[in-house]
Amino acid sequence: MKIAFIGLGAMGGPMARNLVKAGHSLVAFDVVAAHMAALAEHGALTAASAREAVATAELVITMLPSSPHVKGVYLGADEALADGILAGVAAGVPLVDCSTIDPHTARAVAAAAAARGNPMADAPVSGGTGGAEAGTLTFMVGAATDLFEHIRPVLAAMGKNIVHCGAAGNGQVAKICNNLLLGISMIGVAEAMNLGVALGIDPSVLAGIINTSSGRCWSSDTYNPYPGVMPNVPAARGYSGGFATDLMLKDLGLAADAARQAKQPVVLGAAAQQLYQLWSARGAGGLDFSAIIDLYRQLPPPPGK
Ligand code: NAD
Repeated sequence: MKIAFIGLGAMGGPMARNLVKAGHSLVAFDVVAAHMAALAEHGALTAASAREAVATAELVITMLPSSPHVKGVYLGADEALADGILAGVAAGVPLVDCSTIDPHTARAVAAAAAARGNPMADAPVSGGTGGAEAGTLTFMVGAATDLFEHIRPVLAAMGKNIVHCGAAGNGQVAKICNNLLLGISMIGVAEAMNLGVALGIDPSVLAGIINTSSGRCWSSDTYNPYPGVMPNVPAARGYSGGFATDLMLKDLGLAADAARQAKQPVVLGAAAQQLYQLWSARGAGGLDFSAIIDLYRQLPPPPGK
């Protein structure tokens, strides 16, 4: 299939390479020329603009940083000028945005696309850059059922779990609700592990108890933040690699925005957001989010101690 791929960063680059490997014919665009050059080495064609990339495409995929970029690329810098890709893509061509953005923007862009005769899906991913390289991402797809079935084989070249979450916007809903819970649960595990160790228990013994008891969760049994408890997790390598604190912060911000629009409380989410914000402000934004445990471990001793 002739696919236009826009946004070739840490995630989009390897995803696009997997599409080329699967035999698709790619025309790629990124505002960073070096990202296009890297993909061209793998056999993709490159375009001078996003509009040029989509001109003859049979399917469009975008993987951009956040909501304003998605709005800008699809609708244009100035909606009145209609200089986004919606104005340049042929009617009927399906559009798939894999960026993590707020559901409100995802639905607004999908509605604008539908008005021009282009069905659109939001398909944010989990699995990180490792999953993007390995082609093992999970896609959470918001789309009409016929569009989901149409794009599923293409997504399968980049991921192993392709989940239909409902109509447009629901992929983003699934993604931000999961990451809201993940951000909160990681802080809960960090708090409990730190308290236990401060009270004298061995961290591996405590993790073993939690992981066979009712406190068990992914943050405790697969990605434990306490160093020395598990091999092959960011805590075992100085919190390098993994899922950056600033990306978690971005997703918690999306959840907070979506909650405000839905007039729903996210009390623990707001507290978690502030803790990651504090941690990022201390210069740890690039570390894996499980490093948040150091916010507890680095607390200064109380006066007089
Ligand atoms: P990135 O910043 O590495 O890549 C984004 C790319 O988009 C960059 O190459 C940038 O030059 C390009 N870009 C920006 N504006 C553009 C425009 N107007 N036209 C064309 N290209 C443009 O980000 P990433 O890590 O690849 O993440 C992409 C999305 O995936 C984000 O929404 C992120 O939240 C989400 N995500 C990231 C991870 C991760 O581990 N990195 C995991 C899951 C989801």
